[in-house]
Amino acid sequence: MIQFTKLRLSGFKSFVDPTELLIAPGMTGVVGPNGCGKSNLVEALRWVMGETSAKQMRGGEMDDVIFGGTSHRPARNLAEVTVVLDNAARTAPALFNDAAEIEVTRRIERGDGSDYRFNGKPVRARDVQLLFADAATGARSTAMVSQGRVGALINAKPSQRRSLLEEAAGIGGLYTRRHEAELR
Ligand code: ATP
Ligand code: MG
Repeated sequence: MIQFTKLRLSGFKSFVDPTELLIAPGMTGVVGPNGCGKSNLVEALRWVMGETSAKQMRGGEMDDVIFGGTSHRPARNLAEVTVVLDNAARTAPALFNDAAEIEVTRRIERGDGSDYRFNGKPVRARDVQLLFADAATGARSTAMVSQGRVGALINAKPSQRRSLLEEAAGIGGLYTRRHEAELR
């Protein structure tokens, strides 16, 4: 299990100014009035873990995650989210051998797509998805239950439900790797 310790956002949805949240071990609650950005926070986490569907981000296209402006503030052209992971126990893949902390960053520029970094070094989207696939905390795992998702689970086709259960069981990463191996 990978412990998330920090979440940093800048220009992401309603979080236009740089914001850092500390995530302590155990349960974290986020409270606030309707529309204050609670779901946006969860989406930021899912996005930095490699979500590729704009629909899952409640947008029409991925650029919609970038702060779109308000009556008081102009829109931005950049959004960046970083999640910091505790790797003190060195449970992350060998790629992170000596790193006590792993910073996973995703950045999107309007009209130009997004890219990822591990501790500042550019990596592929696949590397990010694989890092999280093993932890049963992937962007699509049942560990991330968003508003309205319970209903979607109930209405899912058996095959979709199966893949959700497989990911919850922590074997989603194996399928992702098998697919990678078949592509090579
Ligand atoms: P609820 O309690 O109703 O579920 P919430 O706290 O989950 O509310 P969110 O859905 O996270 O609220 O936040 C919605 C707010 O985020 C809205 O005010 C919306 O205008 C704003 N928002 C979403 N996307 C963007 C964007 N790209 N740019 C600026 N603001 C955005
Ligand atoms: Mg919400």
